[in-house]
Amino acid sequence: MKKIVIVGGGFGGINLAKKLAGSHMLEVVLVDRNNYNFFPPLLYQVSTAFIEMSSISYPFRKMFQGNANINFHLGSLVKVYQEQNKVEMDTGILDYDYLVLGMGTETNFFGNKNVMNQALPMKTIDDAINLRNHILINMERADRTADVIEKEKLRTIVIAGGGATGVEIASMGSSIIAKDYPRLDKQGGKIYLIDGAPVLLGPMSAKAQQEAYKVLHKLGVEIILNTLVNEYVDDVVTLSDGTKIPTKSLIWASGVIAWEAPGLPETAIGRGRRILVDAYNKVKDTENIFAIGDQCLQTTDEKYPNGYPQLAQIAIQQGTLLGRNIRNTDDGDWRLLSDFDLAKSTEFHKTLVAQVVCIGYSGWIYCCGGR
Ligand SMILES: Cc1cc2nc3c(=O)[nH]c(=O)nc-3n(C[C@H](O)[C@H](O)[C@H](O)COP(=O)(O)OP(=O)(O)OC[C@H]3O[C@@H](n4cnc5c(N)ncnc54)[C@H](O)[C@@H]3O)c2cc1C
Repeated sequence: MKKIVIVGGGFGGINLAKKLAGSHMLEVVLVDRNNYNFFPPLLYQVSTAFIEMSSISYPFRKMFQGNANINFHLGSLVKVYQEQNKVEMDTGILDYDYLVLGMGTETNFFGNKNVMNQALPMKTIDDAINLRNHILINMERADRTADVIEKEKLRTIVIAGGGATGVEIASMGSSIIAKDYPRLDKQGGKIYLIDGAPVLLGPMSAKAQQEAYKVLHKLGVEIILNTLVNEYVDDVVTLSDGTKIPTKSLIWASGVIAWEAPGLPETAIGRGRRILVDAYNKVKDTENIFAIGDQCLQTTDEKYPNGYPQLAQIAIQQGTLLGRNIRNTDDGDWRLLSDFDLAKSTEFHKTLVAQVVCIGYSGWIYCCGGR
């Protein structure tokens, strides 16, 4: 019986665990800092009070009920001890024969302490609920106050980051204000969407970029491109061109960095703190440690020399394939599993997937196969 510890039950981790479920030769421990899996692409709908968190989350223990070889462990990674094949969680130490890291990413504030302390990130369910409460309370206050300057600050929302998340929040936010706060909508203040790139939705097709711009513009969103959010102090956002925007709400949808996994060799850490893996998702300079999904950087596919984009489909496919590779050695030939016989494994190549961005209530959906 070999023991596989999977740290992170996101798209990658749960698809790997599902693939390994039912094996009599493998004992799987799935570890996560939360007791539930959730669906990040719909976080913006929780953050804009359109749906409840229970609609996008599901407990791990329920998910794997009836799978005798899968155990769940609630805890957060502290350190990997690769020499000893042990991993320390804040809730205990786990032994492994194979370790798989799929912890994803955290918000990157690019070292700006003021932004980190005051901006509203959008990465977890807690972030989304916090954002929802913050915006709704501010809109209620804005609706009540007779102070024109205060009203404008409360009503104004600045969103840093014109990727899918920023575009979706901007569109939902403006739709909600128009419908639920019609009086406020006609008074001062607006939603700003700021991005350093010359276009919105950078990785998507030119058609999707233009459409997103057109629809947001029609919704009254002020789009500012080629510009960065530099500072947020005393309720004022300062942009890289010197523009100052008074606001009580800066939403940070501007960047991510891979969660740190202390204990891995320094040589295995690449751009954006992502863990460097080979074509089989094995971590560089390790023997029995793998990384999947957003947390890894796999540059072995010649079509993606800078690595795959950090998207759900990539994590799903990497998790599923790693599970299949492990199961392929699950045929009694333990020499192969102990070596993790790569010759018997299948290399990971991303299959083309659609990208979808939903704009507002009206169901505007843009699909494209990337660039
Ligand atoms: C707001 C938002 C919208 C998005 N929209 C889209 C979209 O429309 N389409 C798309 O393809 N992609 C989208 N993405 C990206 C997509 O969600 C990720 O690419 C995908 O979730 C990556 O899967 P993963 O398994 O690598 O990591 P994740 O799904 O992030 O899962 C990581 C898991 O690890 C756990 N974890 C983290 N740290 C620790 C720790 N220290 N110890 C234990 N557990 C830990 C977390 O709790 C989590 O369950 C979006 C992301 C966000 C944040």
